[in-house]
Amino acid sequence: METLSVKVGDVMIGSRFPIVPQTMCNTHTSDVEATVGQCRRMAAAGSGLIRITCPGLQDVPHMKEIRDRLRAEGITTPLVADIHFSSETAIAVAPYVEKVRINPGNFAKEHEKACSQLSRLLEVCKENGTAIRIGLNHGSLGERITSLYGNTPLAMAEAAMEWLRLCDGNGFDNVVVSLKSSNTLVMVEAYRILASKMKEWGKVYPVHVGVTEAGNGDSGRIKSCVGISTLLEEGIGNTIRVSLTEDPVNEIPVAKYLADRYDGKITSSIVSKQYSEDGKKVIATYEAPSRERLIEDLSCDFGKALLDRTIDEVEFRGSYLDEKGEKTDIAAEGFGEYLADELLQACRRRFYKPEYIACPGCGRTMYDLQEAFEAVKKRTSHLKDVVIAVMGCIVNGPGEMADADWGYVGEGGHKVSIYKGKTPVLRHVPDTEAVDRLVELIDADSK
Ligand code: SF4
Repeated sequence: METLSVKVGDVMIGSRFPIVPQTMCNTHTSDVEATVGQCRRMAAAGSGLIRITCPGLQDVPHMKEIRDRLRAEGITTPLVADIHFSSETAIAVAPYVEKVRINPGNFAKEHEKACSQLSRLLEVCKENGTAIRIGLNHGSLGERITSLYGNTPLAMAEAAMEWLRLCDGNGFDNVVVSLKSSNTLVMVEAYRILASKMKEWGKVYPVHVGVTEAGNGDSGRIKSCVGISTLLEEGIGNTIRVSLTEDPVNEIPVAKYLADRYDGKITSSIVSKQYSEDGKKVIATYEAPSRERLIEDLSCDFGKALLDRTIDEVEFRGSYLDEKGEKTDIAAEGFGEYLADELLQACRRRFYKPEYIACPGCGRTMYDLQEAFEAVKKRTSHLKDVVIAVMGCIVNGPGEMADADWGYVGEGGHKVSIYKGKTPVLRHVPDTEAVDRLVELIDADSK
């Protein structure tokens, strides 16, 4: 899809340029030393942009210091300030970063007020050459939009179009747009609608693509590859983030794989594929250079067909090289079946385990999110037909966990809130007990 070109520092985003992989710090922004250290590792790993949360005005000097220290070291990777609610913070930080990510719907409850705050921000961005991203998430659409369109992919696309038109009306085109969801179907549909609406309008802004709160490990990688590759294959997506509840540097190799594949620099390790008579099942035999590569390849090879219901079943055969470089049979110890189960679940075709939603964490996270997520998974992996969210902060977590049945949300100060749907059923639970309380509640509810 042909798009406008957006300049973010010395990185260009748009259809005329390579796909830009990016990631986000999970350090506290006030801990300048730790954040600079993490940015160094991200830049070395090949992140094209680095996002850092800027929760309030008090963090603006930290952002400036982080930028100055990185530039003094010769690290020129553009920085993106992540803003959730405060337009004043966005305006204050815009001169010190190359891009500001906002959800203008969160600026103010009244639409007119949010519009005027966005206009003020755009003026500052124009003066400083700062780009913006209009970043909307499925779980946090405003009431005004959901009352018109429901909590749907269409609502996400309509909301984005509204803000894009406002940017256009203000003569500001240095804009990237994103519409994320942890649900691959919702996310793909929302981006498809947005792409066709922008084309119809005659002005196509570059698109930042990602599956939000994808979790970690194989599941997180498969879910991200399915959602992102489906869109990249259709020419939608100019910068990407693979969001994992892990060290954020781990996101980069996966994002680089996706960028390289859809920029035509690498191809899949698939050797052959054979369709059943009715065309609904595929047997694919691979020769993959690593376990990770196998997972990425098969998610991209068949994710779109499973999401779009062109096929119903997949079976994987062949081999991959393990960590020691030894050839390993995919069929051994049920690995092939496990991969098929994971892929079908990522495409929301069959659920063989709970559906986990876990944010990657950021500077707002006040507890060990990765450890808590592992503990929750360990105690709930036997369940079925349940969606469990583990979220890093009480400010955005409850809003962002969209259609979760249960939520484990860190409050900070070693306390956790437990949600049933959108309702907090237990607050201020000590983190040492919180997983037990969550499991008890789920058990009682299922009885
Ligand atoms: S929900 Fe997670 S990623 Fe989002 S702001 Fe909170 S801690 Fe950061």
